[in-house]
Amino acid sequence: MEAMALVDTLGRPLRSLRISVTDRCNLRCEYCMPEQEYVWLSRDDLLHFEEISRLVDVFISLGVTKIRLTGGEPLLRRNLCQLVELLAEKPLADLALTTNAILLDEFAEPLRRAGLRRLNLSLDTLRPDRFIRLTRQNDHARVMRGIREAARLFDGTKLDAVIMRGVNDDELEPLLDFAASIHAEVRFIEYMDVGGATHWSADTVVPRAEMLERLRSRFGEVKALEEPGSTAPADRFALPDGRVFGVIASTTAPFCRDCDRARITADGLFYTCLYAMDGLALRPMLRRGDPPDAIAAQIEARWLRRTDRGAEERVELRERTAFVPVSALRADPHLEMHKRGG
Ligand code: SAM
Repeated sequence: MEAMALVDTLGRPLRSLRISVTDRCNLRCEYCMPEQEYVWLSRDDLLHFEEISRLVDVFISLGVTKIRLTGGEPLLRRNLCQLVELLAEKPLADLALTTNAILLDEFAEPLRRAGLRRLNLSLDTLRPDRFIRLTRQNDHARVMRGIREAARLFDGTKLDAVIMRGVNDDELEPLLDFAASIHAEVRFIEYMDVGGATHWSADTVVPRAEMLERLRSRFGEVKALEEPGSTAPADRFALPDGRVFGVIASTTAPFCRDCDRARITADGLFYTCLYAMDGLALRPMLRRGDPPDAIAAQIEARWLRRTDRGAEERVELRERTAFVPVSALRADPHLEMHKRGG
């Protein structure tokens, strides 16, 4: 039976939970981890799988129906398939994972067997030379192998590409072609000024309107798909040849009004917005053995008070620069996107 929807001050239900399982990453993407050094979470502080499982039960009792595992790079977390197995037994409408695909040639099959339902794969470029410049790693061939393997094994695979002006904005069409060739759907993501995006600047953002105009001038009419009731971050569009793609316009046209997402960091901080400055520490509650009802009451109280409109508030700023300066990220690494999971 579906739990009664818990709604915040703007009437938004808590439906979707992103769980970061590690803050480590094997890439250093320019838009997420451009610095040379980072402050890492201590291993002892990471939630154990059994603790994550207990928390997920609590969230399900509060109305959560969708879980996405993320990071950092979630496939770096040891024995991740064991967590997927634990979660796959729970009454969820969706159990998905977001990954950069480097380790997928090894893990796609075990993840499928463990009960994972869907994958979102980050792929910003089809060009190996550009991949190195964008990520500071030479793993493009492996990523492409992992993506092909995943698309063969999973339905509904999405390819997520952060589009940056002068970096990869000439790849809209090749990415559409590639996605079609593996029966996946591509989503073009506007470069966001989230914590960690310390090199962000407004002129590097390619707004949704511009992406659509470029595709229109190349292919003809780009039709917006009507999807009433959807809380998906991407607006979806169709090209005249029937190809469908998404655009996540979090920077120029955010979807805060419909945001039903919450996040947990790998060390158990609960955040109600990607831009939230403070989180609720769930790990101490778990480790001192608080009963599920008591933990649920604390999460519920947070959600009921939720007023966050982080991305919309950023749009309202006149002068927009990186959200959090490097010095503040060092002082509170939980403000990093790779800590709270994108
Ligand atoms: N490592 C995994 C991956 O690469 O998919 C999961 C974590 S990563 C933080 C999740 C998503 O956040 C990726 O698709 C990434 O492109 C996106 N992301 C990170 N920084 C971003 C930014 N500044 N703007 C837009 N998307 C961003």
